[in-house]
Amino acid sequence: MILKTDPTSTEPTPAVTRAAAVLRAGGLVAFPTETVYGLGAVATDARAVARIFEAKDRPHFDPLIIHLGSADWLDRCVASVPPEAGRLAERFWPGPLTMVLPKRENIPDIVTSGLPTVAVRMPAHPVARALIHATGAPVAAPSANRFGQLSPTTAQAVEEELGQRVDLILDGGPTQHGIESTIIALGETGPRLLRPGPVTLEELRECLGREVIVATGPSATPESPGMLLRHYAPRTPLRILDSSTAATTTRDRRVGLLAFRAAPASRDFAVVETLSATGDLREAAANLFAALRRLDAAGVDEIIAEPVPETGLGRAIMDRLRKAAAPRA
Ligand code: AMP
Ligand code: MG
Repeated sequence: MILKTDPTSTEPTPAVTRAAAVLRAGGLVAFPTETVYGLGAVATDARAVARIFEAKDRPHFDPLIIHLGSADWLDRCVASVPPEAGRLAERFWPGPLTMVLPKRENIPDIVTSGLPTVAVRMPAHPVARALIHATGAPVAAPSANRFGQLSPTTAQAVEEELGQRVDLILDGGPTQHGIESTIIALGETGPRLLRPGPVTLEELRECLGREVIVATGPSATPESPGMLLRHYAPRTPLRILDSSTAATTTRDRRVGLLAFRAAPASRDFAVVETLSATGDLREAAANLFAALRRLDAAGVDEIIAEPVPETGLGRAIMDRLRKAAAPRA
């Protein structure tokens, strides 16, 4: 069931109050965050968290991000908060930055897939904040899609992905960033970027005043499953153009084009989706998954994607495109 709620209200609307009751009773609620829609359960309720994995067909080796109501809640999930985590939280929370830190014992193994660390973030979206506060507990929430598929950026996309598998979908309109949070691990070996996202590598380095190692390369046994070779993928085969080649197609195939900026004049494409007419990376990221979803629904034989410049948010966009383009297992 989809319930609309005011996307700007940090006060608990009737829809949010009802959703919080569902969560407290061990249910699953899909809700908007500023990155993508999440599929939430109370993080300390192992049975409820198990239902997330069922709903997503998600392999149990894939740990979840816990969403906090405030930075003060870190102590509820994390064994010890290193000074650098405090600095990052002060600068980027609420916002699209996830930190991987040593976990506290009360966090069930199913949340962390048995890892000694836990991923936490404080979302900025008013609806997410209102929901977490009304629930009064940290909420574990991966993206609200079937495993390996595109992350949903609207309530309708959640409904298409999960339907009756979720108890309630809070509709707070389309999400702002449209791409998943940045993940940084803060361990003894120094800060490491596990997944690029809306908070850029440049911003992290600047805030910490030191090198942040990029550890986002594809891996079969990933430290962060967002690093799986094939992930965030449409069902249609996808190929990335190299930057020097113009997008072309042949008459015998129906090809969809994912254009970065103003689309080329070719009429040979069955469908064209433009990420940002002005070439703005923020706008492009926000449109990425919805555009891929539409291309997927258009029934084309292949999707070809134009590359975007790999600076700032462009790094996160290219990371998602490469995963979408990776060969199927
Ligand atoms: P999602 O919520 O679907 O965007 O996925 C959550 C991402 O956070 C996955 O790629 C997880 O692997 C990553 N993650 C969660 N917990 C940890 C952890 N303890 N260590 C490393 N990565 C984590
Ligand atoms: Mg996901």
